[in-house]
Amino acid sequence: MWALARALPPGRALVWRRAGTGSAARADRAMSEGPSAPRPARRPKDVPRHVWARERRRNAGTGLAGPNTVYVQVVAAGSRDGIQRAMQEHKKGGGVFSRLCLRDNDTFLIYILEECGSLFMHLLMAVFDLFPAVQLHTEPEYKDETMTVYQIPLTGEHWCCRRQGKHVLSKHNEGSRSSFCLKGKFLAAKAQELGLPVGTPAILPIITALKNGESITFEGKELLPEELCTPTDPGPVFLVLECPHEGFVDAVCENETFQRYQEGVPEHQVALVIHMTPESVLRDSRYQQWMQRFGPGTQHLVLNENSSAVHNPRSYKIQTQLNLIHPEIFPLLTTYQSKAVCPVPIVRGECLLKYHLRPQQEWQRDAVTVCDPDMFVSEALDLPDFQTRVKECKESLSAVPGNVSAYPEIVFLGTGSAIPMKIRNVSSTLVNTSATRSLLLDCGEGTFGQLCRHYGEQVDQVLCNLVAVFVSHMHTDHHSGLVNILMERRRAFAALGQAFSPLFLVAPEQIMPWLHEYHNHCEEILGDIKMIPSQSLVKGCENFRPKAKEFVSSLLESYDLAEFQTCEVQHCKNAFACSVIHKSGWKVVYSGDTMPCMALVQMGKNANLLIHEATLEDGMEREAIEKTHSTTSQAIQTGMKMNAEFIMLNHFSQRYAKIPLFSEDFSEKVGIAFDHMRVRFSDFPAIPKLIPALKALFADDIVEMEERKEKREMRLLKETALVLDKLTRGDSTEAACQKRKQAKNHQEVPDKKLKTAN
Ligand SMILES: [Zn+2]
Ligand SMILES: [Zn+2]
Repeated sequence: MWALARALPPGRALVWRRAGTGSAARADRAMSEGPSAPRPARRPKDVPRHVWARERRRNAGTGLAGPNTVYVQVVAAGSRDGIQRAMQEHKKGGGVFSRLCLRDNDTFLIYILEECGSLFMHLLMAVFDLFPAVQLHTEPEYKDETMTVYQIPLTGEHWCCRRQGKHVLSKHNEGSRSSFCLKGKFLAAKAQELGLPVGTPAILPIITALKNGESITFEGKELLPEELCTPTDPGPVFLVLECPHEGFVDAVCENETFQRYQEGVPEHQVALVIHMTPESVLRDSRYQQWMQRFGPGTQHLVLNENSSAVHNPRSYKIQTQLNLIHPEIFPLLTTYQSKAVCPVPIVRGECLLKYHLRPQQEWQRDAVTVCDPDMFVSEALDLPDFQTRVKECKESLSAVPGNVSAYPEIVFLGTGSAIPMKIRNVSSTLVNTSATRSLLLDCGEGTFGQLCRHYGEQVDQVLCNLVAVFVSHMHTDHHSGLVNILMERRRAFAALGQAFSPLFLVAPEQIMPWLHEYHNHCEEILGDIKMIPSQSLVKGCENFRPKAKEFVSSLLESYDLAEFQTCEVQHCKNAFACSVIHKSGWKVVYSGDTMPCMALVQMGKNANLLIHEATLEDGMEREAIEKTHSTTSQAIQTGMKMNAEFIMLNHFSQRYAKIPLFSEDFSEKVGIAFDHMRVRFSDFPAIPKLIPALKALFADDIVEMEERKEKREMRLLKETALVLDKLTRGDSTEAACQKRKQAKNHQEVPDKKLKTAN
């Protein structure tokens, strides 16, 4: 049922959905055809035509449903959103596809639920059969009950090489063409006339056979499908094309398969072309002429970085409300306004926009996401106590001295753990060390999208300012946005006309096999990286490779740093925290994921700011140990032990989507991070003062979480009581029997016990 092409600049996906998948529909079988498909073998002369046709149909179909309604829906457009997050937001499951890979000469197609950045993970998981959502296809043609997809490989010139004038043909890319076809309708009235058992279960296999183009024998008489079914509708053709950069434009324009669809032959009329094409390609006159050749009957849907759509209304809502509490610490998110024009009429991707291919070819916008900031504001203002708390907060802040130094400035991009959710994205923190230098601490899926929402049109400049990325460990919520950042960074340098320089990657050495695999099979990225293994930045590390040594000194120089240190933490194998000391004296320490860790306390001594994970609430120490994470109080205590001036907590379990539970250890030195929160050192005194207003904003959620906590504690107490009960029963079975009897007679006993323990 799904299909698609490779989506190079990541974060785009389309859903093919279908209606009418009931058992009746399943009786149908779609037949597909397509001129670019490998030509079927000729009919041998001794085989009758209808037998040959039947065999071909049998081979073509899957025996499943052919839907009456088929539409394409944009789930995420413009590489600005992580697919997982978009899926969460819009409760879409299943039919998402976003990539097609060409591996050497052996083509395979994978449909994945991911953005490009984590393609590689899914690719490997698919290979090892670990990820059930991934379907691997090794054929150039994919066929199912809804459609047939033909891959059209395109070979382009590598962009960077081309820029250097080398014109090296180096990478493959694919476009893909899909079409689907609906079987004819069964003519029930005519069947009844002929005496067929219409209305009884016996008719079902007859309908199936006829719709599949097979003739049947009924009461000794042969009935042909043409007599009892309307003709099969071949179904519209649509193209999904990815042209990642200008190096592919010639390959697209000269491709013979595409040309066949531009000749104006009615059965080759293309209903829709989906362009996964950056703006630079869309502006290319060769590409524009190619688009025009499809004629006025073809619709063009563009999914690229210029999409202005809002994909995460919930995240916009929360940010608009937080902004009422403190406009600088919680800046409003930006929406991207596309100014680009294209001479061919195009439709830009918007979240949940649909194009119906069947029954009627038309755009449908009723599901498109809209944001109403005024409503978000009035909802917050109506909350009990909120206005009073905000007023008090503002009054108390007027006593706090204004900004002393603008840098470093910390922008929390993702403050949740494990998987991206509507309100908290996964780990990523941007440290702006100066107006022109930024450092990224971890880089979970959707980091680029978060940057876009935070910086709007300035995002390209921020990407060019990005000199290094620190990846704490190899859990996907910390690194799966990296490839996307690399790609977008490369694009940003070109867009701004700035000289490209590779990114320093400070990460566990174990990241390299992944990057190599991606480089070899998907896209060349290794040239974009200068690798500094985290292991080599541990204090006292002896075996420093000369290359890494050289990289470290230029990294320090770029940021004006006195020191960049790492230490191994207690989480998984090869998990690191880092500490950054600027020449002007400030020190920022980032824990990554860890349990309370002495090495981190040592490294972080006297930090100005400790950013520490606080995955779980107090009272969940056991889970914290099992999952090798910290609780809120453990994180705060780590900060106290290192004598940190201020502690920002992040990496909250997604069970605390809006706000984590506060612990008793909270003090004037502790703040909780939200996505898009912007913090400077001079904000430290202000941050704890925001808490009463935050509590008013999230009062309902806090009550709910406290109730959950109470329930959990009750459950724990019960469990403990049971254990104690068992122990006091002693070894004697007789005594145990006695106890059980007593318990039976006095049902209230355990309850009483619980009450005293409480
Ligand atoms: Zn994590
Ligand atoms: Zn982790």
